[in-house]
Amino acid sequence: MVSWQQQSNLGQQNDLSVLVSRQRAWVEIDLAALAHNVRTLKSFLAPQTKLMAVVKADAYGHGAVMVAQTALANGADCLAIATLAEGVELRQAGIKAPILILGAINAIEDIKAVAAWQLEPTICDPKQALTFDTTLNQLGESLPVHLKLDTGMSRLGTNWQEAVSFVQLVQTLPNLNIASVYSHFSTADDSDRTWMNLQHQRFGDALAQLKTIGFVPPQVHLANSAATLSDRTCHYDLVRVGLALYGLYPAAHLVRAIDLKPALQVKAKITQVKTILSGEGVSYGRKFVASKDTKIAVVGIGYADGVPRNLSNRLQAIVCGKLVPQIGSITMDQLMLNIDDLPQVRPGEVVTLIGQQNDLRITAEDWATTLDTISWEILCSFKHRLPRIFNNQPV
Ligand SMILES: *Cc1c(COP(=O)(O)O)cnc(C)c1O
Repeated sequence: MVSWQQQSNLGQQNDLSVLVSRQRAWVEIDLAALAHNVRTLKSFLAPQTKLMAVVKADAYGHGAVMVAQTALANGADCLAIATLAEGVELRQAGIKAPILILGAINAIEDIKAVAAWQLEPTICDPKQALTFDTTLNQLGESLPVHLKLDTGMSRLGTNWQEAVSFVQLVQTLPNLNIASVYSHFSTADDSDRTWMNLQHQRFGDALAQLKTIGFVPPQVHLANSAATLSDRTCHYDLVRVGLALYGLYPAAHLVRAIDLKPALQVKAKITQVKTILSGEGVSYGRKFVASKDTKIAVVGIGYADGVPRNLSNRLQAIVCGKLVPQIGSITMDQLMLNIDDLPQVRPGEVVTLIGQQNDLRITAEDWATTLDTISWEILCSFKHRLPRIFNNQPV
């Protein structure tokens, strides 16, 4: 069996149609769309502002190595990931750009690996700073580190009011070189800016306090995608962009702030076509019952691939340039479509679950709205059982 990674490597070399001919279902990544998004974001920023491409969680399901390489080739300055293993994957692929680990590293062996792979850790509090310094001292090494302030997210970081004592401690540690001071918004995608402005003000206060002790961080950063698109005063030296890189807007009121193109499509093939009689049920639990003789298609994709079962009877797909309803419970490996309006459809036909065909488009945002969640979660939900096939590699 060929693993998804080997298949995605093949995707860089082989004709797309050859690859697709072997798949029942796959995730298609449009590298030209990614490149477009990176270039568009970069040109939206002031010339001196750096773009950090956030490629955690396998680049939100898009394939971290290919996305990182494409982003760096099109103007991204550095990368961010969440875990040690995600950073190691990028270094093993030969990526040399600075890589910030957004998550907290605590285990001694992990700290050693961070140093060995030249990754740049987030330091969240004084105790962790001391552990890092002691471990790095034993190795005879030093590392650039990024100090995280909590300005109201109540996730990682030292309380913004303690910024001065935090920095003063880290300054005494010879093996830690402060590369940046940063914080993270909790409501930047909300059209009500009250809390975001308060967080921004707290961050500004902390930086002002640091200035009174003569400390100006080499780099300061605060903005995620939503803050990048909504408020230029949050850009500072660098912006940390995830979702927008992948062509989605973080909120409805930010749509069209810049021109982004969705990079991910989810496709699967029809494996059987048949007509069921009036009164027959479709799938487990008979959650759809035909009110007349109905032509249906069986499609080779299910919840084990990342199509949430909660979308059963609420999902649409694009087949032969038309929107058709999904019917009955979504099963582990398969789902059914009502194709009564499409007499010409045969097995082997490709179905688009997320993506575009001509003027029709289904987005991760559409699924998120139906499921009362966010598009970030939808993008991250596609399993590695679906090979990532890379399309339109920019030359
Ligand atoms: C994930 C993450 C980002 C990117 O967020 P988007 O909304 O996807 O742009 C930025 N900063 C931190 C700390 C993160 O965890």
